[in-house]
Amino acid sequence: MTTGEAPALLLVEDDPVLGPLIAELLEPDFTVRLAANGQEGLHLGLTQSWDAMVIDRGLPVMDGISLITALRAKGIGTPILILTALGDTAEKVRGLDAGANDYLTKPFDGGELAARLRALTRSYGPPTGQGLAAGQVSIGTWDFHPASRVVRSLYGDTVTLTAKEAEVLAALAAEPNRVFTRDELLAAHFQETDQPGVIDTYVHHLRRKIDRTVIRTVHGVGYQIGDPS
Ligand code: CA
Repeated sequence: MTTGEAPALLLVEDDPVLGPLIAELLEPDFTVRLAANGQEGLHLGLTQSWDAMVIDRGLPVMDGISLITALRAKGIGTPILILTALGDTAEKVRGLDAGANDYLTKPFDGGELAARLRALTRSYGPPTGQGLAAGQVSIGTWDFHPASRVVRSLYGDTVTLTAKEAEVLAALAAEPNRVFTRDELLAAHFQETDQPGVIDTYVHHLRRKIDRTVIRTVHGVGYQIGDPS
């Protein structure tokens, strides 16, 4: 995101009325590019740089979940909000599991969509607090740079986290001596849901991406940043 320019947003929505309507609603706060099917969305998502994406769950050619899965598999870490017409929790969890950072259920309020996108794109800003010179945080033998969302191992391997994964990891790493309850983490980082299972999902993602020991389970209490040393 270049300072002074509106963030670039990729909107993948096949509804011929809703698509242009959402685009109009989000401009001029975002520069919106509308794609009408999953394949076009995948092409644009892989070939251009975006500050955020809004992806409809139900899309022709390639559905929203498959599209998000494909983008994440290619290492695209851009914040994604998934739009779902289905209100049930399982569907929301599927979206988050596939790599979405947030979701909104149709019909939604335009102001809420804009506010959530501002929150998602804000995660790209400079890290707050924690004054290691370059914004770097040490987690055992790993170095974590919250602003770029990159975790680097002792051996130089790097993993790029999604905005929400980085947010959760940064919160845990900021207070290494503290055990966080799931409810605490949920209230602080997932205002959009009241399902503590989302926390377990994110812990699972972080362990799979970095290492099993990066987050410690404190049985009966919650989670704490790990110390593999
Ligand atoms: Ca649709």
